[in-house]
Amino acid sequence: MTRIFPAILSALLVLIAPLAPALARTGPVAEFRKLADNIYAYIGKNNDANAMVIVTAHGVVLVDTGNNQPESRNIKRHIEAITPLPIRWVVITQNHGDHIGGSPLFAPPAMMVVQDRVIKDLAALKPYQLNSWRKRFPERTKALEGLHPLHATVSFSNRMTLNLGGTIIELIGIEDRYNVGDIGVWLPQSGVLHAGFAGYKDRHPDIRPDYSHSTTEGFLRQLEVFNALNPKIVVPAHGPIGDAKDLGVMVDYMLLARHKVRGMMRDGMALEAIVKAFHMNEYKDWDRTSHYPWMAETIHRELSGQGPLIVEIERRRISGTVLELTDEGRYLNVTDAGGAKLKLRVTSDTDIEGIPDRSHFKPGAKIEATYQIPKGGRPALGFDVEEVRVTP
Ligand SMILES: [Zn+2]
Repeated sequence: MTRIFPAILSALLVLIAPLAPALARTGPVAEFRKLADNIYAYIGKNNDANAMVIVTAHGVVLVDTGNNQPESRNIKRHIEAITPLPIRWVVITQNHGDHIGGSPLFAPPAMMVVQDRVIKDLAALKPYQLNSWRKRFPERTKALEGLHPLHATVSFSNRMTLNLGGTIIELIGIEDRYNVGDIGVWLPQSGVLHAGFAGYKDRHPDIRPDYSHSTTEGFLRQLEVFNALNPKIVVPAHGPIGDAKDLGVMVDYMLLARHKVRGMMRDGMALEAIVKAFHMNEYKDWDRTSHYPWMAETIHRELSGQGPLIVEIERRRISGTVLELTDEGRYLNVTDAGGAKLKLRVTSDTDIEGIPDRSHFKPGAKIEATYQIPKGGRPALGFDVEEVRVTP
């Protein structure tokens, strides 16, 4: 990136970045807002994942599918309230549960549209993930019997244009070695852009050493292309609706983050010390400061020319009790019979038995779970749960 952004510019960024506006996160209730004729945003509550809805003569195009089951159903209700037309296309901007996880509520009969790399991930789904996909919405389990997500999916490599009765929808994938299939969705007639993963707002981005969300360089590459579109309205993956200025804020943010790690590396600091010292407190009102350690380690890997961290996964079981939960059951603090405490993360891939979905976990619930321990990784947000059985 130094070719594109000369050293003098990156030095100036230290001065520029603290001036970036500090905005509030989204409200406690999701909002369905009209952005332009036939274009709507579903703005997730408390910075949950956003979605976008485009009503065309050939049916509805949904972009991303909601943070969790109640949100996905809420999106569906909002769509049904504005049009009798069916949901025909479900475009996925990033292959992470809070964006793709609601897809079994819609597809099939809707067709899911993803970048080619996502197809590879879908083809490699493990049995517990397929179970989770079929069971995620009990009202859909029967309809999805014997089906695989690939049975209603089309994919593209870099660009795909949908012309649905005169409504133009451009899907933009940015070529990058480590891009895992993140795309932007551009509506040139109205100047509305869903900027996907690159469109973070008011939230520290989730950049990880395994490059499962690409790299800061890939992130900047996407922002460069999206910036050139000069969108009037930007729907970010998370956070309030913004505009082209917010894409610029993210560019500043990423350059500052890289500048900080580069400086510490130049000073001869070891990785552990860099991870400890790294912060982005200039963006003081943003949520997810828990992403700092991952971001520092990722940038360190990138700047020292390393590829993604290959994490070996070890599986363990726990029989225990839920002590407390946050984010509607996404994070569980549990204790086992011996009193040892553990933080678990229930993802959209988790195969859940005994309750309809993770929002039904209660403190005091007895659980048996299989979870993953990434060797040498930093599970800052908790250990991912593969399967969990809840007993009353
Ligand atoms: Zn997300």
